[in-house]
Amino acid sequence: MNIVESHVKYCISLNPDFNDLDKNYLTNRVLALVGESASTILGSDNHLDNLELLIKIAQQNKKITNDSSQIQILAAQLMDLSTPSPSKTNQIFWKKYQLNPQNATNWFYHLNCANNYIQTRSIAKNQHFWAHSSFGDLEITINLAKPEKDPKKIAKMLKRHSENQYPQCKLCFENEGYQGREDYPARSNHRLIRFKLGNKVWGFQYSPYVYFPEHAIFIDQVHEPMNISRKTFENLIEITQLFPDYFVGSNADIPIVGGSMLDHEHYQGGKHEFPMFKAPIIYNLKINNFPKVKAGIVKWPMSLIRLISPIPEQLIAVADIIRKSWLNYSDKSVNVRAFVNHERKHTITPIAHRQGNNYILEIVLRDNQTSEKYPDGIFHPHPNVQHIKKENIGLIEVMGLAILPGRLLSELQEVKKFLLHEDNQIASKHFLWAQYLRKKTTWNPQNVDPKLQQELGNVFTQILKDAGVFKLDLQGKEAFFKFCATFSQR
Ligand SMILES: [Zn+2]
Repeated sequence: MNIVESHVKYCISLNPDFNDLDKNYLTNRVLALVGESASTILGSDNHLDNLELLIKIAQQNKKITNDSSQIQILAAQLMDLSTPSPSKTNQIFWKKYQLNPQNATNWFYHLNCANNYIQTRSIAKNQHFWAHSSFGDLEITINLAKPEKDPKKIAKMLKRHSENQYPQCKLCFENEGYQGREDYPARSNHRLIRFKLGNKVWGFQYSPYVYFPEHAIFIDQVHEPMNISRKTFENLIEITQLFPDYFVGSNADIPIVGGSMLDHEHYQGGKHEFPMFKAPIIYNLKINNFPKVKAGIVKWPMSLIRLISPIPEQLIAVADIIRKSWLNYSDKSVNVRAFVNHERKHTITPIAHRQGNNYILEIVLRDNQTSEKYPDGIFHPHPNVQHIKKENIGLIEVMGLAILPGRLLSELQEVKKFLLHEDNQIASKHFLWAQYLRKKTTWNPQNVDPKLQQELGNVFTQILKDAGVFKLDLQGKEAFFKFCATFSQR
């Protein structure tokens, strides 16, 4: 079978919009994209091998150059042929949902892998490991799949930003099927599931970079800023009712303590039990008038209150009492301030998940003040750990999964050589840390990999502690209790 026939066969097998009658039509679509010489070349049984080869053929035929965005655009167009239309995708999803939610999400997730929207081959290059901490085992990934942005392209994008506002942002619905450009990802094979949340239309998709199993994104149809309110708790609980085996959480709605997409209301979820969910409550709190809500402070490096109840309405009511109390709560003795120059500094990172008959809401207190000593943020990774991570501690990290930049992989090779007293080109930013590590213990080629992974985990633990508003010392604990006394009794 030649490569075009192989690809067409794959598209027909995956895409119910097509059947054998469409063979000639699809063949011509593929030839138009890659050039007619393709039909003389042998294909393979693996659709990703075929995709790579079709791209090479297109380059030979001068249909595209070797520019990475042109490659991504062509790959997405070729895989779009294997993907049902948006309306058909929605129809199949909701039909499968009637049987049960997992049936629908399984199908949609596998479609997104099979049509390469989730680029499983690049994701397989990510490194993933566990590290011990006094808060339980934490997860670390070094992320090699998400391409680092080329500074030249960023400059071009900034220039283009004022000229071209389509799609308005990367979360907007208008990305579905968007071809892409030099400075914007290819989305021909992207599909969104529509659903009702409250009385609004929302979309559901998977993240192309899946940091954990079935990493999903839930998106408001309207491009409007992130906003944490009572409605957020209602929405999160409703999503866990729609998809009972998924957790779902929202990033904070102010800079420094949240994600990078504050302009468009969205949540992230998926099928994963994060380290945070396994951390136990260490101090119980009694909430007046809500006997059905179990509450407590959790043993976690960030300041976390957990609420558990089988009754969603009560849970939402208590969560909103805590949110409102925190929005206006200041305790200067521990550097916590709700407002500075009339600017709001407080918000929360909320996460919902289910356990048996219970709904659980995790409420993480956030404060985005900066100071002269900590210009990047007082409750943000401090300068001594920024050589590992200096980005915001968003939803995923809050739950105990570190997403570290891909550059670390090569940098850590040099740190390793330094620890083993070999010739190295260690980056100056890692030098103090590496010196401390070299004195701390004896390093040899057998222990260097696992020990260094553990040391990265130790840095991540410190990063989470930095982001905690109430520290874990006696003074911090007393201050946390004082805040909890505004809405509960111990
Ligand atoms: Zn948008």
